[in-house]
Amino acid sequence: MKNKTNELAEESVRVLLKHFGEDIHREGLQDTPKRFVKFFTEFLNPPKFECTTFQGEGYDEMIIQTNIPFHSLCEHHIAPFFGTGTIAYVPNKKIIGLSKLARTLETFARRLQNQERITMQVADFLWKELEPKGVAVQLTAKHLCMEMRGVKKHDTYTTTTKLLGCFKTKASARNEFLNAIK
Ligand code: ZN
Repeated sequence: MKNKTNELAEESVRVLLKHFGEDIHREGLQDTPKRFVKFFTEFLNPPKFECTTFQGEGYDEMIIQTNIPFHSLCEHHIAPFFGTGTIAYVPNKKIIGLSKLARTLETFARRLQNQERITMQVADFLWKELEPKGVAVQLTAKHLCMEMRGVKKHDTYTTTTKLLGCFKTKASARNEFLNAIK
């Protein structure tokens, strides 16, 4: 798939590599501009998914999925941040296919992002699609832009949480969620 846009993008990578003092003719860098453009194009275009929902058949307790891995890129440094997410909801009438929770997180993570925004976007998306009684999303991640420079803090995790509906308004629902992820 060779086109003008790709060539321009690859040339820009060469310019950057030169700017960082690299010899762009050395063997190891020959295909780097092409691979770089391909990698980012793929990463930033996650597969589309159908948000299939089902009738809940009266199921009205919390559904929670934990330890969902995600990878993203911080919009400030284009450095990776990655970790795991927990998504919970209390259905009203609709339930969602279980694999779709991970797909939802993946969809919003694979952009130039910040962790707070992914957390909110996942919660808002499920709130809109499922019209549930409540949605709770919590992400915990390591940010390489923080680990690799400056303060060089290792093993530091950032946690963000978004609560909607009953998880926001009812202490019992919020506690059930918080106890489940302890
Ligand atoms: Zn950053």
